Amino acid sequence: MVDLKCLREDCVFNKSCNCHADKISVSDKTECQSYKPSEQKNKHEVDKIPQAPIRHNTSVSCLAPCLFENCNDCIANGITVLSYPDNVKNSPAPPKEKPCCATFLRK
Ligand code: SF4
Ligand code: SF4
Repeated sequence: MVDLKCLREDCVFNKSCNCHADKISVSDKTECQSYKPSEQKNKHEVDKIPQAPIRHNTSVSCLAPCLFENCNDCIANGITVLSYPDNVKNSPAPPKEKPCCATFLRK
């Protein structure tokens, strides 16, 4: 998918709130398991550049019991990953302080 918004700004794959990983894995509890903390301090400030006209295409595998899950792949046109699960309603309780998919809709 080319519309993967992510608010976890300290991840190495995050550029201006877009995910630039080629592939990410989302757990059965909606956690983004591909999150990798950057060692670069104030990374999100450095990333504040204009949005690229062409977005990165990221494939998303997912094990969550979600309407958009099909054969362990996400088939949504786009998803939003939030920094912490506390903001996600109806989510199957992902681990604390991990980024997680906010587009989850229970099957
Ligand atoms: S936390 Fe996950 S979705 Fe967000 S930029 Fe990192 S790998 Fe991509
Ligand atoms: S929208 Fe659903 S299937 Fe897609 S990554 Fe999020 S939880 Fe998984």
